[in-house]
Amino acid sequence: MPAYKLIIDGKKVSTTETFPVLNPATEKVVAQAPKATVEQLNEAVAAARRAFPAWSATPDAERSRLVHAIADTLEAHGEELTKLLTLEQGKPGVGFAGMGGAFEIGGTLAWAHATADLELPVEVIQDNDEARIEVHRKPLGVIGSITPWNFPLMIAIWHVMPALRSGNTVVIKPSEFTPLTTLRAVELMNELLPPGVLNIVTGDGSLGAAMSSHPDINKIVFTGSTATGKKIMQSAAGNLKRITLELGGNDAAIVLPDTDVAAAAPKIFATALFNNGQTCAALKRLYVHEDIYDEMCNALAAIAGSVKTGDGSVEGIDFGPIQNKTQFEKVCAIASEAKTSGARFLTGGEPVKGAGYFFPVTIVADIADDTRLVAEEPFGPILPVLKFSDVEDALRRANDSNNGLGGSVWSADVARATALASRLECGTAWVNGHAMIQPNMPFGGVKESGMGVEFGRYGLEEYTTIQSLYIAKG
Ligand code: NDP
Repeated sequence: MPAYKLIIDGKKVSTTETFPVLNPATEKVVAQAPKATVEQLNEAVAAARRAFPAWSATPDAERSRLVHAIADTLEAHGEELTKLLTLEQGKPGVGFAGMGGAFEIGGTLAWAHATADLELPVEVIQDNDEARIEVHRKPLGVIGSITPWNFPLMIAIWHVMPALRSGNTVVIKPSEFTPLTTLRAVELMNELLPPGVLNIVTGDGSLGAAMSSHPDINKIVFTGSTATGKKIMQSAAGNLKRITLELGGNDAAIVLPDTDVAAAAPKIFATALFNNGQTCAALKRLYVHEDIYDEMCNALAAIAGSVKTGDGSVEGIDFGPIQNKTQFEKVCAIASEAKTSGARFLTGGEPVKGAGYFFPVTIVADIADDTRLVAEEPFGPILPVLKFSDVEDALRRANDSNNGLGGSVWSADVARATALASRLECGTAWVNGHAMIQPNMPFGGVKESGMGVEFGRYGLEEYTTIQSLYIAKG
């Protein structure tokens, strides 16, 4: 087992204590990760603070070059990182529709390169006899990044690259469930970056709260649950930290009666279940018009019946285990409650016996809106299919949620679907697709799904603050 270490101020740092990282397919320990103390977190923040003046003054073109170079390094180590992802996260390398670990690495590279090419030029909003007024974007300082276990590497890149690109320094803390890929990637990145620009601490329990209340961290970027997002918002008030919160979603999709079911079903299945449903913007509530309800249920069940769930390190596996025991137990409880409610299970429904957190792909029909499976984000391989007869009623039910990350409308009539999609209460609405994110399109939630956006120029701006420069004339 390789010895993983923290990276603080460009140096590998050992810890007195470690914590075990499990393979969710076997429940066996695959590595010990360093358990940082709050003092070590403080050292990481201090190192990032010391590195900030020089890094923020580094020419923009040089920071862009380094972000591209980071992407190249990660690409060169793509195979190693994909294997690590399978080991600690559970996802297969290829997986269903090619959306496994290699897909995550591909996303990582795409986002890194795209972020490297972003620019925040000075804006001149007035230049006349009275004054020249410029709007400058300045980096915030030290960014604290707290990343989740569903896409450990890609989400780390979503946080870290725009932070670095815009001149900030970073302390990242990955999920205790999946620290290894990020520890290795940060080690690789530190071969390129000046010391202190990117630091990593790992631990299991006390670091997150210490980061969000830290007086010398200027912004927290967090991807995870709404409950923890709310805590972060509260503790960020201490020094008025900026926050970007990308939280839970319970995305609805409305399928209108003119939809070509045979063409739509595979796309709906993929967007609901990829990464085993452990995706913030996955399609999680499927509202289908009564005219095509049975046809859609049958089509989805047929696909679900044809896929393989198993150890992601075995070739040909479509879906790996659920990433951790708590999440596994949550999915089991949600499925069991749906069963008790009398819902009709078309596939799956019971956890696989034996080692590993395996739950088969489960499609549930004839389910009530007030069951946990519909009302909560299950974050697992289980999809409720709900019937509607009136489109306005479907829209009301879709919007009847505290979440508002994404949503979609499916129809042969694109204009009608677009008009309906724009009435969904969510940060991103898709027509004839779902969860289609890309590096140039802002992405974020409304209601309790988050605050702020990531990606593209809008996302980059969130790592900066405005300085207006008024140059008097005459
Ligand atoms: P959480 O949302 O609870 O996040 C855990 C992370 O938050 C850890 O890194 C933890 O650090 C940190 N943390 C905890 N308290 C604070 C605090 N006060 N300030 C700052 N950081 C804090 O994740 P879970 O893994 O428990 O997942 C729970 C649910 O979240 C899932 O069921 C799913 O619904 C959703 N989720 C959503 C994701 C998304 O992509 N939006 C991704 C993953 C999960 P420490 O260990 O140091 O306390």
